[in-house]
Amino acid sequence: MHLFDAAAEIGGQFNMAKRIPGKEEFYETLRYFGKMIEKNGVNLHLNTRVDAGFLIQQQFREVVLATGISPRKPQIEGINHPKVLSYIDVLLHRQPVGKKVAVIGAGGIGFDVSIFLTDEGTTGESDQQRISDYREEWGIDTSYQHRGGLTQPKKEHAPRELWMLQRSKGKVGDRLGKTTGWAHRLTLKNRGVRMWSEVNYVKIDDAGLHITLKGQPQVLEVDNIIICAGQYPLRELQEPLTQAGIKVHLIGGAKEAGELDAKRAIEEGWALTGMRDED
Ligand SMILES: Cc1cc2nc3c(=O)[nH]c(=O)nc-3n(C[C@H](O)[C@H](O)[C@H](O)COP(=O)(O)OP(=O)(O)OC[C@H]3O[C@@H](n4cnc5c(N)ncnc54)[C@H](O)[C@@H]3O)c2cc1C
Repeated sequence: MHLFDAAAEIGGQFNMAKRIPGKEEFYETLRYFGKMIEKNGVNLHLNTRVDAGFLIQQQFREVVLATGISPRKPQIEGINHPKVLSYIDVLLHRQPVGKKVAVIGAGGIGFDVSIFLTDEGTTGESDQQRISDYREEWGIDTSYQHRGGLTQPKKEHAPRELWMLQRSKGKVGDRLGKTTGWAHRLTLKNRGVRMWSEVNYVKIDDAGLHITLKGQPQVLEVDNIIICAGQYPLRELQEPLTQAGIKVHLIGGAKEAGELDAKRAIEEGWALTGMRDED
């Protein structure tokens, strides 16, 4: 069994997810899968981008395409302006981000990026510190000195001024998980993030992001515009491999790009493990 990845480490998008405050557990997920790769004797080839020709030449009988996604770039005048960054530029390539930011797209990744950019920066500190920060943020009194075990939540000082924007109608973040969406919205609200829906993007230039909000034109004078506007499946290898008679299995983002759906990606990979005996 051979596993090829173009990147220098395993994990794909999890390497972005793990940097989001509150998602540090993904470091452990990656450690676990790293160990399993070792334990099961998988031949891991990092820094190895493969193409169809290589896979055909190597005479693989079956190929699992877990090549993930490519981010959607919306058609806005000025989209190639240097102020514009993708969430991948920010989270993976660690590009610097200014103090005033507009985030285009309010799905799961748009929320994660907004939380990341408005966090005071306790990620990387000890678990104990994070727990104590969390309690202060939500006003949890573990000593039960106050009624209901609740105190006044501590107002966070966000290091950036941020706008979260979506084109569609309705509440921003409406499609987030029922049990977690309200908490993410409240966190961002407490950090002063403005969440606007029914936004039409007009253009991007040196002045910032030109929009109309419910029909009213305005300019957001921001340093950066971060694009979190969805994803497409990345499956360019599927056709040439299938045509060469190789059995191809699509899993994860390559099968269906659905933003925060690692569970499905892992389940689909697991469902294929019956293949193992043939190798
Ligand atoms: C900020 C962020 C937060 C997230 N949070 C969550 C969350 O809380 N819960 C959740 O369930 N999901 C979350 N996700 C989504 C989750 O990370 C993805 O669903 C999951 O990683 C999809 O796995 P995948 O295997 O399909 O592809 P990916 O993780 O996209 O990995 C694809 C891999 O394929 C490699 N590759 C591509 N083409 C080639 C090639 N030709 N040759 C070699 N290698 C190649 C890439 O280098 C990459 O490593 C988050 C994603 C992001 C960006």
